[in-house]
Amino acid sequence: MNAGVSVRCARPGCAKPAPSALARAELCLDHFLDEAFLRTDQALTRCREGSPLTKESLEWLLSDALATVKNLEESADEPQPEQRDRMLELLLILANLHEYVAHHSVRLEHPA
Ligand SMILES: [Zn+2]
Repeated sequence: MNAGVSVRCARPGCAKPAPSALARAELCLDHFLDEAFLRTDQALTRCREGSPLTKESLEWLLSDALATVKNLEESADEPQPEQRDRMLELLLILANLHEYVAHHSVRLEHPA
């Protein structure tokens, strides 16, 4: 694909290379996982509180993040065992969120 083009994580103080699945987001695997855990956690908290979620954040979690994790799992980049554990954990949490959204009426915030 785009071998030779190395994208680095855009987070301040982080110069780790971004895996190809994250090149567009300009995030390394660790920072992507941090971000995804944070956003999933916030979304689940809002669901349980009955607070509305933005359609955008829900879509990001249930399609982008999910697709990215699957892509990362299949990519040639060999994750560290600890990163692999976090990826599997993230998949579980995303599955929980998916389940929650499917069985509860989650209020969506419609941007004005
Ligand atoms: Zn990073």
